[in-house]
Amino acid sequence: MKLILLGPPGAGKGTQAKRLQQKYGIIQISTGDMLRAEVAAGTPIGKEAKAIMEAGKLVSDDILVRMLGIRLDQPDAANGFILDGFPRTVPQAQALDRMLAKKGLHLDAVIELKVDTATLTERIAGRFSCAKCGAGYHDSFKPTAKSGVCDVCGSTEFVHRADDKRETVAARLEAYHQQTAPIIPHYAATGALRTVDGMADIASVAAEIDALLAAAQA
Ligand code: ADP
Ligand code: ADP
Ligand code: ZN
Repeated sequence: MKLILLGPPGAGKGTQAKRLQQKYGIIQISTGDMLRAEVAAGTPIGKEAKAIMEAGKLVSDDILVRMLGIRLDQPDAANGFILDGFPRTVPQAQALDRMLAKKGLHLDAVIELKVDTATLTERIAGRFSCAKCGAGYHDSFKPTAKSGVCDVCGSTEFVHRADDKRETVAARLEAYHQQTAPIIPHYAATGALRTVDGMADIASVAAEIDALLAAAQA
């Protein structure tokens, strides 16, 4: 299964991608996570990306297209993948079309999560994750079962993303509307686009996605 999860920052892409990764045994490819790893490691890409990410802007198409090409060539991507955070611009979508065509692959579905701005802001403000295993949580909507302890690995260390600040969120939403939303008609035209109500709770969004994937596979 080859999927794209599309939606504004805070829509729930990472939450659903991690679940789908386990359910279908396919890998989550989060370009945001990949970039954050480059920043943490202080690589040349990380050095270039850091300030751009903290300003809530998009890192260059060149870097992202190269990064994704390398990732898709790795053997664990052969079983299928969930793209989380890529493509984010029309040139990225066009580059992905070329990469998939070259490999003889096609997308099973492009799932758009629709969420209103007030809700996105609330979700981003309360987002945190486990410093050890990366499991994602929310202060109100997805707290840990035991306060201060990761449900998955038991770690007691958590992190907030550097760009999950109120000042940066507006710039990220603007980038989504200006640069990412224009790829939606592209996928509508190919017939792959499926739109899901991302305002529902996590379990309901999951159920809606599972139902549409079951229909796509039938
Ligand atoms: P969110 O989960 O809030 O949608 P991501 O973790 O996907 O955010 O991305 C964080 C940041 O990393 C973005 O604001 C952007 O600066 C950069 N980034 C991630 N993916 C891409 C991409 N495909 N193209 C350009 N920049 C990207
Ligand atoms: P994205 O990857 O699209 O930026 P995340 O999956 O990280 O979004 O979700 C943003 C925050 O909102 C996280 O703290 C997550 O726990 C929470 N969240 C995700 N989906 C929902 C939902 N359907 N309802 C309420 N909160 C959610
Ligand atoms: Zn953990």
